[in-house]
Amino acid sequence: MKIYYEKDVDTGVLANKTIAVIGYGSQGMAQSRNMADSGLNVVVGLREGGSSWQTAKDDGMNVMSIEDAAKTADIVHILIPDEIQGAVYEQSIKPYLEEGNTISFSHGYNIHYGYIQAPQGVNVTMSAPKGPGAMVRRTYLEGFGIPGLVAVEVDATGDAKQQALAMGKGCGLARAGILETTFKEETETDLFGEQAVLCGGVTELIKAGFKTLVDGGYQPEVAYFETCHELKLIVDLIYEKGFAGMWHDVSNTAEFGGLTRRSRVVTPEAQKEMAEILKEIQEGKFAKEWALENQAGRPMLKRMRDLEDELQIEEVGSKLRKLCGLEK
Ligand code: NDP
Ligand code: MG
Repeated sequence: MKIYYEKDVDTGVLANKTIAVIGYGSQGMAQSRNMADSGLNVVVGLREGGSSWQTAKDDGMNVMSIEDAAKTADIVHILIPDEIQGAVYEQSIKPYLEEGNTISFSHGYNIHYGYIQAPQGVNVTMSAPKGPGAMVRRTYLEGFGIPGLVAVEVDATGDAKQQALAMGKGCGLARAGILETTFKEETETDLFGEQAVLCGGVTELIKAGFKTLVDGGYQPEVAYFETCHELKLIVDLIYEKGFAGMWHDVSNTAEFGGLTRRSRVVTPEAQKEMAEILKEIQEGKFAKEWALENQAGRPMLKRMRDLEDELQIEEVGSKLRKLCGLEK
């Protein structure tokens, strides 16, 4: 595996280039500000009348329409939600791309599944932080950064990887290390992670644990602390010191109980289902489902959001987080 650090990356390759960051949300704000603060030439492309236009102006960014930004730029870094990138690209970016330009992403989704196809002679690269925008910005200001990824799908100019690495360095990612990957690997692992482990897996685990305790007659507040609040403390230990460090810090009773019971929770059947989920991602079945859902106006997502809001753990959690001063 190849990891690039500050000393390995020369931002000189971007000296005469203009980077248009399209979008000023979670990633767009953090990445465009970091790159500008690092001395790179950055403009921000947004739709006029959108809510982030004024925010970007107030932050002192050079804001223009998406079309003008695409015209001006050598590198168009597309940081708007994945499900609208294809349409915005066709209408407002593609017509202005010239040979030798670069389109760049922080997630491989649209390139990997073919929703965006670059014209001949245009580089396709990825520069992606492994974390949310707020953290990208905060750690940069603290003088450090979070780890990142770099990938090249099309290298038309011969220096596509150097360009993408330099953008990552401008974001502060080379301070923590930039790993080399491919569009396929990044897209498929990212989707799998968020579905099976991070967003999907972990909420279902919490939900099931909470419900088991409440059904067992215990106070919901106690159940919440046990199955949700404390999860962060355990995950922080694993994040900092690995499984071994976590097992060392919890009691021997917790260690014995955890090690003897965990495979009864995440059973071999659960692992078979994980493999099935991965297959749906690899075969493009998930992407197709999500595209159809968007075309239909997201009826399923809306319904699931409503059901999620109605969960008892959300009600109890919100009350407790306010009482503890964690939430306003
Ligand atoms: P956001 O949802 O935060 O993007 C919001 C921005 O997109 C706003 O500037 C908004 O402008 C603009 N936008 C929304 N809809 C449209 C539209 N129809 N036309 C034009 N502009 C629009 O996106 P993220 O930062 O979360 O994600 C950007 C990319 O980064 C994605 O590829 C994502 O996968 C990737 N990524 C995200 C991470 C994260 O933590 N969020 C982590 C790693 C990668 P307006 O104000 O006008 O609505
Ligand atoms: Mg991810």
